[in-house]
Amino acid sequence: MDTSSNDALLAPEEHVLSTLERDGSRRWLWPKLAMGTWWKRRRVVAYVLMVVFVVIPHLRIGGKPVVLLDFVSRQLTLLGKTFYPTDTLILALFILTVFVTIVLVTAIAGRAWCGWACPQTVYMEFLFRPIDRFFEGTVGKGGRPRGGIPGFWWVARILVYLILCMFLAHTFLAYFVGTDTLARWVRSSPLEHPSAFVVMAGTTLAMMFDFLYFREQMCLIACPYGRFQSVMLDEQSKIVGYDPVRGEPRRKGKRTEVEPAGDCVDCNQCVVVCPTGIDIRKGLQMECINCTQCIDACDSVMAKVGLPPGLIRYSSQDELARKPKKLFRARTIAYPIILLAVSTGFFFAVMSKVGFDARLLRGKGAPFSISNAGMVGNSFKLRLVNRTDSDQVYTISVAQPEGVTLEVIQKELLSLPSGGNVLVPLSVEFAPTITRGVGNRPATLKVADDSDHETEIEFKLLGPR
Ligand code: SF4
Ligand code: SF4
Repeated sequence: MDTSSNDALLAPEEHVLSTLERDGSRRWLWPKLAMGTWWKRRRVVAYVLMVVFVVIPHLRIGGKPVVLLDFVSRQLTLLGKTFYPTDTLILALFILTVFVTIVLVTAIAGRAWCGWACPQTVYMEFLFRPIDRFFEGTVGKGGRPRGGIPGFWWVARILVYLILCMFLAHTFLAYFVGTDTLARWVRSSPLEHPSAFVVMAGTTLAMMFDFLYFREQMCLIACPYGRFQSVMLDEQSKIVGYDPVRGEPRRKGKRTEVEPAGDCVDCNQCVVVCPTGIDIRKGLQMECINCTQCIDACDSVMAKVGLPPGLIRYSSQDELARKPKKLFRARTIAYPIILLAVSTGFFFAVMSKVGFDARLLRGKGAPFSISNAGMVGNSFKLRLVNRTDSDQVYTISVAQPEGVTLEVIQKELLSLPSGGNVLVPLSVEFAPTITRGVGNRPATLKVADDSDHETEIEFKLLGPR
């Protein structure tokens, strides 16, 4: 059997993925560093974000964390406000607000998140790659490692990775358990909190795997955001783009009257600096994380050959095609309106939550009962959530109509700690005359706590006609 012809048939014409060799093996990328203006700006943003990530779990507003995702107690604290599992509307509006913000930012600024703020890019490009360059050295300025580093130097590099990943994993854990609990865990044996230790160790290993081995594959293969960009971007969205009108036909060497050419001198610098290994001159690609490295590389080449910068620049597909700029388009009008609507709803839903939540649920079984004395009974369950920072004792009464007796079956349930929630069984008793004629009667239940918060719940008394 002639296998060579099969090989030729199966061989792809070009790289299907920038990190894959034609034979299917991993193509390791060692991007060169272009330390231009954009890189300097990104470096400032990256270091600020790193500090913010570490500092946030330590910040308090009114004694509460700024952010705490407490899955065990099923509570979310944001900007000092705690939300409970009963706050489904608030959580839905919050998630919707975040989602619409992402869609709006992408429609206007393209993949600014990927290049400037995504932890993958921030830590990879501004923490772990500099560590690689320090320990392994580079051939020339940035790029491929020099190779042949001593074994202990290689071990030292892994140790530094391990320490940093452990620190980041602990910080990550602090967002879920709080810094006080984390500090207690750090000082005690892992045997006292085995599941938290497993989460921390698993997160550390996952980070080691990602930053040591997986690297840009996270953006190219695993992250779904890049794949969504074609839906979220339009021709007017900001992208990092190569200007083919100005650059083509590309050609190395001097331009002469006889051999005119575009501004691209085909130096390949925009490719060798790309952390995802693509050639921006092929147009908008899913792999481009808008990191601006190719802008910096090309601008420095343009400066050397005496041409104006901006052959690769922040642009839009329409601008590169010399089409007019449109500030107002369907997306930039519709998305802000939707964002305003959901964020306003979120704001008012948050503001309406004060003191406590109280929800009255009708008891299961028959709608009413008649006692031996001829009185009508209705049973309920009252869901109470204490949203204050202190313990509370609740008082409950039927505000109207008159003549209704309320009985709380387990009175001790009306004492609730901060953040606690409980289901209190209640029953009311009234004379059959109250519902005579229609079989029901509107009523009001008044609930108050120790801190002068009170609310009224409308409900119906059910009884014989
Ligand atoms: S093409 Fe340019 S902006 Fe896009 S990832 Fe590569 S270097 Fe960054
Ligand atoms: S860096 Fe600029 S000049 Fe060099 S190949 Fe890329 S686009 Fe052309």
